[in-house]
Amino acid sequence: MTVIERPSIDFLTRPKRLFIGGEWVDGTDTFLTSDPATGEVLAEIPVAGPAQIDQAVEAARHAFDNGWRDMAPTERQRLIWGLGDLLDQHKDEFAVLEVLDNGKPLWEAELVDIALSIEILRYYAGWATKIHGDLLPNSIPGLISLRKREPIGVVGAIAPWNFPLLEIIYKLGPALAAGCTVVGKPATWTPLTTLRFAELVNEAGIPPGVINIVTGPGPEVGAAIASHPGIDKVAFTGQTSTGQEILRQAIPTLKRVSLELGGKSPNVVFADAHREAAMAGAFGGAFFNQGQACVAGSRLFVEDAIADEFAEELTEKAKGVCLGQGLNPDSQMGPLVSASHRETVKGHIATAAGGGAEIVAGGREAVVDGLEGGYFLEPTVVDRVTNDMTVAQEEIFGPVVSILRFTDWEELISLANDVRYGLAAGVWTSDVNKALKFADAVRAGTVWINTYGMFDVAVPFGGHKMSGFGGRELGEEALDAYLQPKSIWIDTEAVIPTQGQGISR
Ligand code: NAD
Repeated sequence: MTVIERPSIDFLTRPKRLFIGGEWVDGTDTFLTSDPATGEVLAEIPVAGPAQIDQAVEAARHAFDNGWRDMAPTERQRLIWGLGDLLDQHKDEFAVLEVLDNGKPLWEAELVDIALSIEILRYYAGWATKIHGDLLPNSIPGLISLRKREPIGVVGAIAPWNFPLLEIIYKLGPALAAGCTVVGKPATWTPLTTLRFAELVNEAGIPPGVINIVTGPGPEVGAAIASHPGIDKVAFTGQTSTGQEILRQAIPTLKRVSLELGGKSPNVVFADAHREAAMAGAFGGAFFNQGQACVAGSRLFVEDAIADEFAEELTEKAKGVCLGQGLNPDSQMGPLVSASHRETVKGHIATAAGGGAEIVAGGREAVVDGLEGGYFLEPTVVDRVTNDMTVAQEEIFGPVVSILRFTDWEELISLANDVRYGLAAGVWTSDVNKALKFADAVRAGTVWINTYGMFDVAVPFGGHKMSGFGGRELGEEALDAYLQPKSIWIDTEAVIPTQGQGISR
């Protein structure tokens, strides 16, 4: 495989700083971010200390109280739209940066990460002018009651590394449209696109302090955001265990929290499915983004009648995958995000093998010619998995798919739901009734029928059970997580309060 030289991107050579109150600020320390395809360092990134986090929160509060909250919605709409336009103008650079920092294939960064980020900004720009309250019917003569929907305030947005910029934008779009200001933190392995995005903020004319970006380790910088008394709401995406920690950190200040967490999604193939489509869905569902996707269809349930054939075909397909640098158009899959994450995934594979499952494809580190320092792992198919095995229960977050066989409906539903997560599910069948029955029965926030992994700005996304908490992302529903209701009463007839007590009821 040809090794593509790192493209020269001016941003990579510029010193990286925190973006606070519209200005570039030094951190207290630094860490390195590297290219997972080569292991080479890409840039030195600042760590925000407590003083800088306080400064970012103060800047966000000031911007909230002095302009952003009360700005004419048409103006807010124009500014958010402008930010989307700027991202669009620089989309090629952003896609390449995402590939370099995360390792994913370029087509994916272009079509998913960056294209969806642009669409989200434009979609929520439109919502800025459409958020409204209502006039509520009450039963008290002469009194009018109104419900306003107000922005919650300063939002802490904490993102994972698998869709680095996109996960920040998921939160930023609805937060800005609602009139909130933001302190955002990208994951430590993938900070580059978020820092580059911060450079567009002033250019777009967004007032200082509306968007602030701080970087650094989760247990320090993330925890400082989640526990900060000046932050009104935390929007978090990451592991379920970190989400639980965030909730604990938020308790003393009782801030609002929304959590998008892990998954272990069942992807079900019935014998009557369109075979080619189901195979593509099983493969893509498991290996998209190197399997580093919260919605990965990592539990592949195949009806017994076709299971041997299906497993064999999937195994061959996995063995044929071309691994390489994300910038190389021949690469079907890139490296995992880091050496330590690859070790974690390998640990899961070893546990599966030790527990009696069969590793029928992959399972080992892969060495790509010219990229010996990269964190590649062979796409892995694990067969003969039973639902009680760790490999069927724990989120692996790597290119590992487990095949589970089923024979009847009750067994399938009980197995599909017998997991602590409930993020997504897929079903492949030519029987529409069966598909809809499955969609009703499965405990998941999203169900894909004869497709997998579809997302759109207008369609809400989030998890049931331990996959989500406190709201949804995308669609109109995402706005709710950044708004709070306020009830207003007006006495139109100067009614004297009942018995002079100053209350009417
Ligand atoms: P993670 O929980 O390790 O980290 C997520 C973010 O939280 C990072 O910015 C990290 O620095 C920060 N963080 C870490 N420890 C913290 C702490 N103690 N306090 C505050 N912040 C802390 O998750 P990850 O490994 O970056 O991402 C992978 C996980 O994200 C997977 O479980 C995946 O399923 C999940 N995910 C979920 C969705 C969804 O929409 N449900 C989408 C993408 C990823």
